[in-house]
Amino acid sequence: MKLLRNNDDLAVYLSSLSGAMGLVPTMGYLHPGHGALLKAARAQNQAVLMTIFVNPTQFNEADDFQSYPRDEARDLAMVESLGVDAVWMPEVDAIYPPGDTFCLHEKNHNTRMEGIHRPGHFYGVATVVLKLCLLAKPQRIYMGEKDYQQLQLVRDLVASFFLPIEVIEVPTQREVSGLAMSSRNVRLTKKQRKQAAKIYQALCEQPNVNATRQVLNDLGFRVDYVEEYQGRRYVAAWLGRVRLIDNVALDRR
Ligand code: AMP
Repeated sequence: MKLLRNNDDLAVYLSSLSGAMGLVPTMGYLHPGHGALLKAARAQNQAVLMTIFVNPTQFNEADDFQSYPRDEARDLAMVESLGVDAVWMPEVDAIYPPGDTFCLHEKNHNTRMEGIHRPGHFYGVATVVLKLCLLAKPQRIYMGEKDYQQLQLVRDLVASFFLPIEVIEVPTQREVSGLAMSSRNVRLTKKQRKQAAKIYQALCEQPNVNATRQVLNDLGFRVDYVEEYQGRRYVAAWLGRVRLIDNVALDRR
């Protein structure tokens, strides 16, 4: 497995490829959700490139950026066992060179749910995904259903900028309890982790948005939103200082 640190490493790696390459962008602190993306990429491409980059521009709160879990040694051990060809771990300067003053604006996703509650978040996501795609030139990019708004944003980005890339959706991987796997789960206490599983239960079992919100309020969550949009129910809620998001297709509940 190749470890790519800077854009020159990346260029050398890219020049060694022959067939299709699948890009799996992540922010690290890997878990089986990321593993599912890798597995899908492995099955469809000659080469798989995973990026681990905690993208500063998509964090709307400094505290969240500082406390985002990071463990390079742990991540590298995990990817090694998952059959990744190369891991690209760029420094911030490699993606945002000094003097870079650009940021991509988006006018739809930015006005709903995550876009409203995390101002600027999707601008950061769109900007970094465009940069990663321009640098790595993958044939396919793998995105999780878990972050469904983000997935749609990337689909729209690819269409708007005529990127010759296929966006592949990978189903949400869950704990046995139903809790959607997430790097942020490590910041939950044992008790909170149990409680967090109730989000999925409420999403699946409650008859409508109001009932879902009520149940979560009663359980002690601080709810940012529960919304239904285009056949899917979405929730974002805080447990202590940890913010959790999840969604389900209404016809699959
Ligand atoms: P992150 O490292 O959290 O930015 O996530 C990187 C990619 O993994 C994104 O496309 C996420 O949607 C996806 N992902 C994160 N958690 C899960 C999960 N539980 N199941 C499937 N995909 C996931």
